[in-house]
Amino acid sequence: MILKIILLGAVIYFLYKAFGGEFKLPQKKVDKEDGDTLVECSKCGVFITKKEAIFKAGKYYCDECA
Ligand SMILES: [Zn+2]
Repeated sequence: MILKIILLGAVIYFLYKAFGGEFKLPQKKVDKEDGDTLVECSKCGVFITKKEAIFKAGKYYCDECA
């Protein structure tokens, strides 16, 4: 199992090198605010998606802490 993962990693690495060491992701937008991005609750440290998070005074909070 672990050997398969290592092998897969090696294949990905060689593909990466074959493409000039750069993957181009056409649909990726860096500045896009994704609702599925995980943010950390400032109070309890739990990770929630931005959709679920409550934004208060410049910080994110989970449902329970808000
Ligand atoms: Zn919290």
